[in-house]
Amino acid sequence: MPEDGPVVARTREELRAALASTGRPRGFVATMGALHEGHVSLLRRARAESATVVASIFVNPRQFDRADDLAAYPRDLGSDLDVCAAAGVDVVFAPAGEEVYPPGSATTVDPGPIGRVLEGASRPGHFVGVATVVTILIDLVAPDRSYFGEKDGQQLVVVRRIARDLALPGAIVGCPTVREPDGLAMSSRNERLAPADREAAAVLRRALLAVRDAHAGGVTDAGRLRTTMLEVLAREPRAHVDYVSVADPETLVEAEGSRAGPLLVSLAVEVGGVRLIDCEALPAG
Ligand code: AMP
Repeated sequence: MPEDGPVVARTREELRAALASTGRPRGFVATMGALHEGHVSLLRRARAESATVVASIFVNPRQFDRADDLAAYPRDLGSDLDVCAAAGVDVVFAPAGEEVYPPGSATTVDPGPIGRVLEGASRPGHFVGVATVVTILIDLVAPDRSYFGEKDGQQLVVVRRIARDLALPGAIVGCPTVREPDGLAMSSRNERLAPADREAAAVLRRALLAVRDAHAGGVTDAGRLRTTMLEVLAREPRAHVDYVSVADPETLVEAEGSRAGPLLVSLAVEVGGVRLIDCEALPAG
């Protein structure tokens, strides 16, 4: 890492120049900024396993289905660069929109049915936006390993799929979810929660733990596992459920009847106007 913090590349050309003389292996972490301990855990993992660490900071307009959500997304490049410097990042790619999507850009990446369920059903176009930007960024950075959080479970499934289908360079590495002391998954969205809603938001983790315990205790019926989650969520009046899901971890098709695992359990819940997601992988029985 340079003594005076990361090199900041604002254009594709600057990124190419910054990477020209760097060592391998190269680790890559894609972010939308507003960096917190969850992002830092990915950067640290990349640092530990790479000669060169590259982070991107780009609020990708194409993965937002609501203009107000995009407008409300926190942006503070200065403090993000401080976080990157402290985590030992070598190169930060912080492009303007037209560097990622050149004028007239019309090509998109559609990951297929796995992008149209769950988050994709609630946020139409979201995963085409994610898949397109991840493809472009991995192509530009040409990493040996790209690190993604398990917190965004469906996103990780989508990224693994496009990496395989499109032969994107390097490996995709999933990293464990970093949580607040009460179990709430760290997210830049948490800052938008009013105090009473912030407290209520811990119910997401409680619902997932109830399912994990039930599954470990021998409950394999997918419907019962969904009901277990809904019962916990129903006890928190501030929580408004968007979906609860017990699905195949690769196809994301909802499980029916008795299934030993592995399963991906996920949920999306609105608390105080803020949409929160979380998930838990259940091992093979
Ligand atoms: P974002 O900036 O929200 O696009 O997230 C960038 C990366 O950080 C994604 O791979 C996320 O899954 C990951 N990430 C976000 N929050 C967490 C967390 N609490 N724990 C682990 N990884 C996370």
